[in-house]
Amino acid sequence: MEPSTPPLGDMSPDEFRRHAHRLVDWIADYLHHNDHYPVLSRVKPGDIARQLPSAAPERGEPFDRVLDDFERTIVPGLTHWNHPGFFAYFAITGSAPGVLGEFLSAALNVQAMLWRTSPAATELEEVALGWLRQLVGLPPDFEGVIYDTASIASLHALAAAREEAVPQVRREGLAGRDLPRMRVYCSEHAHSSIDKAVMMLGLGHESLRRLPSDREFRMDVAALRQAVAEDRRAGVRPIAAVATVGTTSTTSIDPVPAIAELCEREHLWLHVDAAYAGVAAMVPGYEHILAGADRAQSLVVNPHKWLFTPFDLSAFFCRRMDTIRQAFSLTPEYLRNSEAGQVRNLMDTGVQLGRRFRALKLWMILRHFGAEGLRARLGEHMRLARLFAEWVRNDPEFELLAPVPFSVVCFRAKPVGMPENDLDRYNESLLEKLNASGEVFLSHTKLNGVLTLRLAIGHIRTEERHVRRAWDLMHELA
Ligand code: PLP
Repeated sequence: MEPSTPPLGDMSPDEFRRHAHRLVDWIADYLHHNDHYPVLSRVKPGDIARQLPSAAPERGEPFDRVLDDFERTIVPGLTHWNHPGFFAYFAITGSAPGVLGEFLSAALNVQAMLWRTSPAATELEEVALGWLRQLVGLPPDFEGVIYDTASIASLHALAAAREEAVPQVRREGLAGRDLPRMRVYCSEHAHSSIDKAVMMLGLGHESLRRLPSDREFRMDVAALRQAVAEDRRAGVRPIAAVATVGTTSTTSIDPVPAIAELCEREHLWLHVDAAYAGVAAMVPGYEHILAGADRAQSLVVNPHKWLFTPFDLSAFFCRRMDTIRQAFSLTPEYLRNSEAGQVRNLMDTGVQLGRRFRALKLWMILRHFGAEGLRARLGEHMRLARLFAEWVRNDPEFELLAPVPFSVVCFRAKPVGMPENDLDRYNESLLEKLNASGEVFLSHTKLNGVLTLRLAIGHIRTEERHVRRAWDLMHELA
């Protein structure tokens, strides 16, 4: 007997329609009634993998069964980032228009490595980033490109800084030759992606100098000035500084105008990491947060953090995109094309060749909510954070540990009479209990050596009642 051959081709259109309808119904319910899931998954390490077969099925399975298993096996192992009680790290949102954009982009599966491999993907990226640039108030000499994450955007920024400082490195490399140590500066509160970037670029971790910050966690510019002078005297070559607008722990804002002035004088590449907070510049009264950023060479802002965009989409804006191209463009024969020179080929602006059609979801989000809708939602998150901070400030058993410039509150419980030495342990245990409740998920940081709880508001469906519930829970569990 002939061995039976599996059918070829894809799922039939009718089957696809049926499963897609089931899936869309599931997603619609999930987006609107996911409050009953515990925000932080309760599974133990290995629980999910243990329930799954150790090899792929030999015979294809009905898709209904796959979806059933998704609900039964996978969902319990999810931590629900798309939940209004998610207050950890930076709270994010996969908004409905963004989810639809992702769905469509997966179906199209276009790949904008070259303009011709999907002209609309390349051009929509330019248009959507142009809209975003205007919304946050950056001038038109900033050209935009989408990367997956801010970490990758900052890596490209520092690669460009290296390219400007020592262009021969592209050809000759860094090893086995006579080059001085290079230096990149940032504050002690800059994100760890900056450390990884200098490590990746072959500059060495020691090439990153983290400068102290002031009492409000902002970079001390006098310390930067002194460090640059000291390094020059020691024969070290300063190449770049990274200023953060919205640091990861406290969302503090480095003094960008003063840093920009110093960078101009010292011929340093200035990169502004506004991954979380940059979008707030579109809210009336917050334009000043990007003051001085127009003098930077590059800036990153993450719509996937606080602009309701499903992960991932990071917007990189650069006034010297030609330097990025100089560092990264390389066209093998099989990618040569007659439009080169007349169009943007996005493979030239980064390390990756293939790229997803991320602009589609951003365009849909910007159109669906409109600038007005986005401003209102960001403004509301900041109002809720101020409200929570007010509750903390007025409660003698709690303490605010940092200013609240945006939508993140840093605080701790401080029961009257409890010795300072016991407070870290007490707050750690409070955090564990809060997160075990399943109603909320908060994370922590350390500020001035002190364990600090962080309440980060950023989910599109977080309302005052959710924030109130987090506060009440703290009292119930404290
Ligand atoms: N920069 C800042 C200030 C951040 O807070 C973060 C992440 O929280 C990053 C960069 C890294 O972001 P991504 O996950 O997009 O690489």
